Amino acid sequence: MKLLSAIVPCYNEEENVRYFYDEFIKNKTFFTEKDLDYELIYVDDGSADKTADEVKKLIAEDSRVHLISFSRNFGKEAARVHLISFSRNFGKEAAMYAGMKEAKGDYVAIMDADLQDPPSLLPELYGWLEQGYDTAATRRSTRTGEPPVRSFFAHRFYHLINKMSQTEIVDGARDYRLMKRQVVDAILSLSEYNRFSKGIFGWVGFRTKWVEYENIERKHGKTKWSFWKLFGYAMDGITAFSTAPLKAASITGIIFCFVSFIMIIVTIVRKLIFGDPTSGWPSLVCIIFLVSGIQMLCLGAVGQYLEKTYLEVKNRPLYIIKEKL
Ligand code: UDP
Ligand code: MG
Repeated sequence: MKLLSAIVPCYNEEENVRYFYDEFIKNKTFFTEKDLDYELIYVDDGSADKTADEVKKLIAEDSRVHLISFSRNFGKEAARVHLISFSRNFGKEAAMYAGMKEAKGDYVAIMDADLQDPPSLLPELYGWLEQGYDTAATRRSTRTGEPPVRSFFAHRFYHLINKMSQTEIVDGARDYRLMKRQVVDAILSLSEYNRFSKGIFGWVGFRTKWVEYENIERKHGKTKWSFWKLFGYAMDGITAFSTAPLKAASITGIIFCFVSFIMIIVTIVRKLIFGDPTSGWPSLVCIIFLVSGIQMLCLGAVGQYLEKTYLEVKNRPLYIIKEKL
């Protein structure tokens, strides 16, 4: 019997914990057919609400279901719902990493608690793995329910990062995917602090089947991503998977040196041949502003990488576990 682990990152998802469980369990016949066992790993990412309590209730109930429906000894292994609680909010990336680290499955799925990643798609994803793919990943074909401004910037971002990075980062890709053990181990071997999973999934490679589905709006609660949080995430993605901004900074520097060199020659020639003393400080001020602006921009780009390197060098843990059940 093979084991399928589903990782569910949760941040203030008290209303969704049970809903998710109910939906997930609807695959029961599929699991039996395929001779699959399952474990559900809820990662409570420092929620301020009752998420952890809801999971604990499920843990109590699920093992009871076991005792009734099976007669053999299940012992500790029988607990099919697990909880990992962080000491504070470490972000979804850390939650996914923690879940993958704890997952024992031969197959591992990552799914949002808000049911935007429909569990009913699991049989199809599994089917692709049976056909020889290493990963079955999902992407949404539509972005209904999303503010147009956000969609616009999202499209721009994917366009930009794919221009800048060698790693393919698919537009509309969700984190919802089913992976074979080998892929999970590969992802775990990338233990970097600044995690950008959409890039990491692409970076590790393997044969990936993309399954499309229409965007589903979340069941309860609000999205945890504000525009600026997403913007920061996009910047992290760029610095994590491309050094193009650094190259752009160097190239801009070279161009400006060249231009100023020409300008110096022109000024000297004008003075010597035509006796023109080159009047006008407004133009000078404009140039100073422009050049120092570009300098700051380039310095900022370098700073971004320095910041990431600094955080990486500190080698802090990605998350701290408060409780594990
Ligand atoms: N999430 C998390 N930690 C965070 C933010 C989000 O674990 O800091 C979880 C959240 O509970 C949900 C999933 O990540 O299960 C996706 O978050 P959300 O639905 O807010 O994002 P969206 O679907 O809007 O992109
Ligand atoms: Mg969501």
